[in-house]
Amino acid sequence: MQPLVLFDLDNTLVDRQCTLAEWAGRFQARHGLSPGSERWLIGLLADRATPAHFARVRERFVLDESVGALWNRYCSDIAAAVVCPQEVLSGLEGLRADGWRIGVATNGAADIQWAKLRATRIADHVDAVCISEEIGVRKPDPAMFHEAVRRCGAVCDGAGIWMVGDSPVNDIGGGQAAGLRTVWISRGRPWPGDLLPPDRQVAEARAAIDLLAAAGSVRNVE
Ligand SMILES: [Mg+2]
Repeated sequence: MQPLVLFDLDNTLVDRQCTLAEWAGRFQARHGLSPGSERWLIGLLADRATPAHFARVRERFVLDESVGALWNRYCSDIAAAVVCPQEVLSGLEGLRADGWRIGVATNGAADIQWAKLRATRIADHVDAVCISEEIGVRKPDPAMFHEAVRRCGAVCDGAGIWMVGDSPVNDIGGGQAAGLRTVWISRGRPWPGDLLPPDRQVAEARAAIDLLAAAGSVRNVE
């Protein structure tokens, strides 16, 4: 069987936290907002960003722009700022050269997630993308993982398919519930003791790619 791995996007393949913090600083300056606004924006958008969140932004800061205009500008600003490290892109390319199929399984709004996938060129390095808004299901629902695997042209039968992500609940818990093996991207955090641990844990995405690549075949990854 051709080995297959699914990757989360935000804070796994790209550093969303850092990109958001930079954006919030620029947004505060552009609109002449009071000190502290930046922190409020980061808190509001920490887990997800949708047009509905920008309705709250517009209301709080009494902005003239429409919600649609604010949202579109957010999408283009984030796409312009977000980066996927070259070592991660080349790692994905290496995995595919070794015969791996690669999917992205990400929670979020389709326009912002696609903007990031295209701007970073991650979209060129994977076989399939599954965005929660497009299918109406979010991680940790196993249906999200099953659909991502299906889009890669495989069946989710529990035979050595991997999920790599930074969220203990959404990526690891969800992946486990879908019957996948899991790699947690710790980003220096300790694993929450009350949850079933992942199969493996590493600090960042390139280390996860190296772990899978070193095995050569999914059967050899223990
Ligand atoms: Mg994530």
